[in-house]
Amino acid sequence: MSFSTLGLSPSILKAVAKKGYETPSPIQQKAIPLILAQKDVLASAQTGTGKTAGFTLPLLHLLSKEIPQRKRPIRSLILTPTRELAAQIYDNIKAYSEFTELRSAVIFGGVNANPQIRTLENGIDVLVACPGRLLDLHSQGHLSLNKIEILVLDEADRMLDMGFLRDIKKVLSLMPTKRQNLLFSATFSKEIKQLANGILHQPVAVEAAPENTTAEKVNQKMYRVDKSSKTEMLIQMISEGNWQQVLIFSRTKHGANRLAEKLGKKNITAAAIHGNKTQNARTKALTGFKKGTIRILVATDIAARGLDIPLLPYVVNYELPNIAEDYVHRIGRTGRAGASGIAISLVGQEELAYVKSIEKLLQQQFPFETREGFEPTMDFIPEQAAKKKNPSKNNQRRKKSYRGSRNR
Ligand code: AMP
Repeated sequence: MSFSTLGLSPSILKAVAKKGYETPSPIQQKAIPLILAQKDVLASAQTGTGKTAGFTLPLLHLLSKEIPQRKRPIRSLILTPTRELAAQIYDNIKAYSEFTELRSAVIFGGVNANPQIRTLENGIDVLVACPGRLLDLHSQGHLSLNKIEILVLDEADRMLDMGFLRDIKKVLSLMPTKRQNLLFSATFSKEIKQLANGILHQPVAVEAAPENTTAEKVNQKMYRVDKSSKTEMLIQMISEGNWQQVLIFSRTKHGANRLAEKLGKKNITAAAIHGNKTQNARTKALTGFKKGTIRILVATDIAARGLDIPLLPYVVNYELPNIAEDYVHRIGRTGRAGASGIAISLVGQEELAYVKSIEKLLQQQFPFETREGFEPTMDFIPEQAAKKKNPSKNNQRRKKSYRGSRNR
């Protein structure tokens, strides 16, 4: 199948060709005709599937059919949870609308609002926004949403996780009720289904991949290691494997900072990216990582959500997430667009329960591996106690039963 069969206008097809896309991805094949037919769509798709073009291309097509010549009201709003994702979508929109007369803008917090306000004053057709700054600028009278024709909620599951439900409801109350709604989410919890029921009208459901499955091309490895040895083992793996571009997930912001510092001390260039960093620091870290001047990006889940880093070869879970779905999102950063990737998880004793819930979600068992010199010492607590009496004998017994435990 080619893009030209989907019903998109020549100016949009020209931009697609300029991007170098030849074949629409599965989510694009399914979503584009439905959106062009002005249906409400409920799409299950994560970053890496081509979902952004899946909704922006038809959206731009619909808006470009009739462009108001005088004052431009905002006719489409794309709501996203994170600033990075907002910036990425905006970049895509700029590229895809290059050969149309459409104007777009992006607004999010953490940066000076004045340039954003000036852009809004000039009149735009498409606005990409994070909820907080959108509501701020709305309450100050800098924008109106009463001419919205198409609403996109991207990464809706993450927006709920981040506590944006009230903001979303407020935003909805500012828009005309008659409009087209597109909701994208990687996972479908009860809450997402409820939100979708409240927003979408007779939606058509489309799926990019079966719900909650990990990218087939990702080679997933789980290493058992003591918490206290994780950093040293990671440094050794990065150095010996000569890994050049690694996204590492840490559960906490402080943990991310600490790890980035420790890597830096070993001459492995690293930056941390999380919610306490300024927007400028986040942008700088991400740009450096994409360009290859920063080898390691240590991120928390929220900061990393939706990052589009083409062909990312390694993802490391320095700590496993306590929500199994987050594991799916994290490892989805690698193995993108058909490329293969490796996802490595460092699993401490206290994280074994998380492995169980990940296995349950994915309906897949992960045999544990160990790295020489970093074998875990905390596997069997009763034996640990006994070890004190006869260390050498118990050490052998521990190793033996550890092997048995790999077939949990
Ligand atoms: P997304 O899932 O929207 O974040 O897109 C993931 C990556 O795939 C981005 O780098 C897009 O530029 C790229 N992409 C999107 N659609 C296509 C396509 N049809 N062919 C090749 N690459 C694509």
